[in-house]
Amino acid sequence: MVNWTNPYAGRDGIWLKGNLHTHTSPASACGRVAIDKTLSLYEDAGYGFLSISDHMTLSQPKSERLVLIPGIEWNRPDGGGHTGLYSCRPNSIVPAITMKDQEELLATLSSRDSLLILNHPNWQLRPHYRREELLALPGYDGIEIFNGVIKRLEGYEISTDKWDYLLSSGRRILGFASDDFHLESDLSTGWNVVRAESASPEAVFAALKCGNFYTSSGVDLTDIYREKNYITVESANGEEIQAIGSGGRLLETVKDCRMTVDISKWDTGYIRFAIYGTGSAMAWTQPFFN
Ligand SMILES: [Zn+2]
Ligand SMILES: [Zn+2]
Repeated sequence: MVNWTNPYAGRDGIWLKGNLHTHTSPASACGRVAIDKTLSLYEDAGYGFLSISDHMTLSQPKSERLVLIPGIEWNRPDGGGHTGLYSCRPNSIVPAITMKDQEELLATLSSRDSLLILNHPNWQLRPHYRREELLALPGYDGIEIFNGVIKRLEGYEISTDKWDYLLSSGRRILGFASDDFHLESDLSTGWNVVRAESASPEAVFAALKCGNFYTSSGVDLTDIYREKNYITVESANGEEIQAIGSGGRLLETVKDCRMTVDISKWDTGYIRFAIYGTGSAMAWTQPFFN
């Protein structure tokens, strides 16, 4: 469903900011904030959509201001293999709650109706995903390339190294950013901004599933588009933009909030953009394949 030569081909619609990875108390033992309070924090922070992704539990709250996407964070019985499962049809992800094998989970749930994301690949305490494991696993849509909780745990919150490894190994997968909300202080560390046809669960889900979104830890993009071989990225508050190619190679840098490149200039399987703002704020586009 992703148009890999141009994930941003659909240019109509509205930009909506959202977080897909949210734990609440008491449904997640690690969660510290009640579900109603969690919803109001995201509503007040101006979010357009949210998924509550409690551990092995489908929580289905209601909100008048947020588009809600049903979600679950699955884990193996040994505590590893965290996987974000999302669907507008909850019945397609509920069977995961009793599954124990991750390959079976991914093979069974992989479909048009569900979105499957491997979470926090650079959490080091319990090595969740070595890059070879990510390469071997089937049927998932993407990985978290940013997970805010790993800022305060062992590891590195950014995992674009593993993303480039997978993309360079021939895997076409999407990059997501998440708060992995557990505490109030986890709010707004990383998010996805979709370009959706409307503010409905189905439209937000479709934009996520087809890659018409960018991820951010603080930089806002205003447009991303491709015209033949020319790709343009425009940001509101970016100060430097890097074009990155196969193997994670830096192809070109501009000290500007806007960049246009001719992808045919390079011998690269794909190109993606990392946008740097003030301090540690960044944004990332999805990859465009050549
Ligand atoms: Zn997790
Ligand atoms: Zn989590």
